[in-house]
Amino acid sequence: MSVTNFGDIGKTDGQTEAKFHTNKVNAGGLVFLPAVASRFALQGTVGDDVHATMARIASGKDGIMMGLRAVFLSLILFGICPANAAPQVLATLKPVHSLVAAVMAGAGSPELLIGGALSEHSYELKPSDARKLQAAALIFEIGPDMETYLSGALSSARAKVVVLEEAPGVRRQPARHGGLWGEDEDAHGPSDPHVWLDPQNAIAMTRAIAEALAHSDPEHAALYRANAAKRITELASLDQEIAATLAPVRTQPYLVFHDAYHYFEARYGLSAAGAITVSPERPVGARRIAALREAVLQGKAVCLFREPQFPPKLIETLDADTKIRVGVLDPLGAELAPGPTLYPTLMRHLAQSLAGCLRKNR
Ligand SMILES: [Zn+2]
Repeated sequence: MSVTNFGDIGKTDGQTEAKFHTNKVNAGGLVFLPAVASRFALQGTVGDDVHATMARIASGKDGIMMGLRAVFLSLILFGICPANAAPQVLATLKPVHSLVAAVMAGAGSPELLIGGALSEHSYELKPSDARKLQAAALIFEIGPDMETYLSGALSSARAKVVVLEEAPGVRRQPARHGGLWGEDEDAHGPSDPHVWLDPQNAIAMTRAIAEALAHSDPEHAALYRANAAKRITELASLDQEIAATLAPVRTQPYLVFHDAYHYFEARYGLSAAGAITVSPERPVGARRIAALREAVLQGKAVCLFREPQFPPKLIETLDADTKIRVGVLDPLGAELAPGPTLYPTLMRHLAQSLAGCLRKNR
């Protein structure tokens, strides 16, 4: 596989090199699962032939070809010319899908695996998902710590799999344990997989997405890189905007529903005190609820944030008891329509929700 240069797309600050899993093939910064298909080389060849033919026809020098000219032009108009087709791309989570959709704008649209308001942690593949996985030529995922449900399915998929948490420049945070973060070691892996909640990571991921697409679909490489450069500029200003929104509330302690926001909190210097649940799909024990109640009564948290995809029942127990203020944080865009704007909207909503709840001092 050829070496991919991530350096030419709008770098913003010092990037740290990510480590790579040893069971993956490292293709110059892109991480692919072994046994990938060679579908793209074939597509490229077919595309080149069609282009050459079209160029001859469009030139109009060959009288016999003149009649065919209109046919080819209508093929182009109706978008069924194989040379113009972007590869079939699948993104696992809404935030990943949003980053990919922005890079693909004008060439095609990625498919989304987990739509709606489903949890990123307790997902189970449906038969229609298996079809999407089989049809995809390129799959973008966070990584094996997040997409645990994909481990079996990907071994039979012919797609190239890009593991975005391992893209160059993505900075990782450890999973948190102890105190109000809980003691359960297997809730997440040793590293926190919610990497997209730092815009600097989103920038690094965008760069990796553009290079993976350019590598698989050289015909649209310039478009992918131009889209990525534009998006990176937007993400850098989004980062500054969020920092300004959160500056007044950085010292205010709060509790979250599950430990999804380490990246966001580290980026903006926030004072999260703990999480309600250690593992979103498991019930919270009475001892833990008592400890959280005590912490709230002692003023160790001024706000408590629930998540839209989980029922508010548990939060209501604490809320009724302690009169703590309650806000909503949505780390996945569960309630947002998928597409390029989902990511910046999701990040703005996080900032606004935190600032709104934490700003009101008692
Ligand atoms: Zn999570």
